[in-house]
Parts: sequence; structure tokens; C-alpha cells
Amino acid sequence: MPKTRPIFYQYGRTKIVLLNTLISASLIMLGCGWIVKNEQFQLLGNLISHVETNKKIIALTFDDGPKAGRTQKILDILNHETVPATFYLNGRAMKNNPKETKLLVESGHELGNHSYNHPRMLLMSYADVADEIESTDKILREFGYQGDISFRPPFGKSLFMLPLYLKNNNITTVTWNVAPEYFNGSDTPEAIYQRTIEQVKPGSIILLHVMYGNGSSLAAIPKIIRSLKDQGYEFKTVDQLINES
Ligand SMILES: [Zn+2]
Repeated sequence: MPKTRPIFYQYGRTKIVLLNTLISASLIMLGCGWIVKNEQFQLLGNLISHVETNKKIIALTFDDGPKAGRTQKILDILNHETVPATFYLNGRAMKNNPKETKLLVESGHELGNHSYNHPRMLLMSYADVADEIESTDKILREFGYQGDISFRPPFGKSLFMLPLYLKNNNITTVTWNVAPEYFNGSDTPEAIYQRTIEQVKPGSIILLHVMYGNGSSLAAIPKIIRSLKDQGYEFKTVDQLINES
């Protein structure tokens, strides 16, 4: 009896330690999963997905590109409706499409950094994160963009090194709280319009992709703008939205 007890006790303790480790690891994984999935939370630094306000102000934001053939079209729509927008651009696409980049810089809309290569940045090293962001900022400046540059992570996702870099460099992360594209074959212009109208509230940041895809998002924009204007909404750049809320 005296001999078996300690063995059983030790075995029991090992089991408890193992169980604890397993539970802790699971919780950490669940926590990381929640952070990764949640575009409205970031471990460090300043993240904005919308602003809290009673004013009927909202921001239209467009991710990716620029791309030839689409840039002029979206600029024409915004110009026709006289509304400002914010474009989150990729460094590589700017380099490959200098004419469109120049158009965007000269348009007066707000431009932001959406990384150079549009990679998944979740597990990227600090040096690689710095390279993705700094090379893109550099191109925006080389094309003559003078405004403050906020950052939008590719796929809206960040975990450790990216938030640390953004915090260390005082860069604001901008995500969204209205995402009407589902990318599952149901994205008709009418569906994108309907979902936008349902999700919008004062202070919203709307995410749309107009540079690539089948053109449904681009086609939905005039109706989205007119309908929101009719409801009394005023369009702002993200920078204006933050400062005027
Ligand atoms: Zn993107």
C-alpha cells in the first residue's frame, strides 16, 4: 500500500498537468482563432473598424489594385456622384500600374497601404512585415501622395508581429464594419446593394472590392451612393470620418 500510493499519486498528478497543458493550449488556440477571425480587434496599436457617432457620416473604402480598366471607372463614378473614398492599395500593383496610381494620387481621394504583395501576414516575421509596409509607403510617396497613410491588413487579419510593428510605428489600422461581398457566387449588384443598406449605420466603414472580380461591386456603387445620400448620409474619407465623428 505505501508503495503504490505515491506511484498512483504521481500518475494522477501527471495526468492533471497534462490535462492543464491541453486545456491551456486549446484556450490559447481558441483565443488566437478569435483574434484572427475578428476584424474589429487587434492585440496592439490603434484599430478602427467604424467610429461611434450620431452623425450620418460614413466612409467608402476600396481594397486592392490599382488595376487598369477599373481605376478610371470607379473614379468616374465617384466624380459623378461627388463623393470621396479611401483606396487601400498594394505596392506591387502600383508599381505595375503607374498610370492608374498617378490617376488615384491626382484624384484627391485618400490612399492607404494594403501591403506590397498582399500576403497572409499572420505568422510573418517582424522584418518581413516592415518590408511589406515600408516599401508600399515609399511607392505612395514616390507617386507624390502627401496625406497620412493608414494600413489595412490583407484579408483583414493580424496576430502578433504585424500589430507590434504597427504600434511601434504609430500606424493606424483601418478595417470595416460593413462587408457586403460574400464571395460565394451570390454577389449580384442588387445583393451587394441590399446588404450594404442593411448593414450601414452612422460611422460605418464600408469595404468593397472594385479592382478585380466580375464587376458586381462596381455596378452596385451608384445605387449604394444614391440610396445612402437619400437617407441623409454624407460620405467621408476614413481620415475625415475619424476627425469629424
Ligand atoms: Zn485585399
